[in-house]
Amino acid sequence: MPAPYEIVYDHTCLLGEGPVWDDQRQSIIWVDILNGHIHEYHEPTQTHQSYDSHDMVGTVGLTRDGNFIAALSNGIVLMDRKNGRIQPVAHPESTLIGNRYNDGKPDPSGRFWVGSMSLKEEKGAGSLYRIDHDHSVHRMINKVSISNGLAWDVERNLFYYIDTLTSVVMAYDYDPATGDISRPRVVIRIPEKEGYPDGMTIDSEGKLWIAHWAGWKVSRWDPFSGRQLQSFSLPAAKITSCCFGGQGLSDLYITSARKGLSAEQIEQQPHAGALFVIRNCGSKGFAPFRYH
Ligand code: CA
Repeated sequence: MPAPYEIVYDHTCLLGEGPVWDDQRQSIIWVDILNGHIHEYHEPTQTHQSYDSHDMVGTVGLTRDGNFIAALSNGIVLMDRKNGRIQPVAHPESTLIGNRYNDGKPDPSGRFWVGSMSLKEEKGAGSLYRIDHDHSVHRMINKVSISNGLAWDVERNLFYYIDTLTSVVMAYDYDPATGDISRPRVVIRIPEKEGYPDGMTIDSEGKLWIAHWAGWKVSRWDPFSGRQLQSFSLPAAKITSCCFGGQGLSDLYITSARKGLSAEQIEQQPHAGALFVIRNCGSKGFAPFRYH
């Protein structure tokens, strides 16, 4: 069905990604990866601000003290929101100059997970890492092509993961005490005609919401039956990620991209790169986990 979407803020990103709802501030945060910008839109006052990372920024998460953990191409850092001061945390790919970090999030126990990819999208060149409280780095999955969507089902101790070029969602058993994952299995297959799975979030019923790159939509899936339950069309081909936010966590925020579109395509998709929201989308999510 066509989504009753709104455009949150009159701005288009080259590669909008990684929306995260800051429930303490009632702000939606997202990144423009290739321009290195972190955007924040404060819903109660309808004001926008942005932070310049002076680097590429693959993803940003929140910390328990209200600041950012960000995946720059120069490493994973803590970033002070007031003064932009940066403190290095880890840089597992410091020797892989052909790679950059991509999607990532804090997990239910406050560790930070972040994946990587080749800048040339070379197959199997990336990995998924877990960074613990002591800043130790653990490679969780290797030979990843484009590391993307991450979601945890806290009730069932599951971890869901998307390596975009596989066109599937994997599930793992997740141990919140150790952060380990085990027993990988395919739970969802995205048909080729629906584009590629990119970012992902989970709702309060354990269903997965997936952004379709080159698929013009977000969709809701049951990971236990593998079935698509709902889909919402959007006015941009490259839909990149989604998260729940707003009052009651019932609004779905959706990022998009204009990277790689021709002038003609941009004319047809003037909102490509915008942040969309579907208010009261029919499901609700969780406040984001925070790194600590
Ligand atoms: Ca992505």
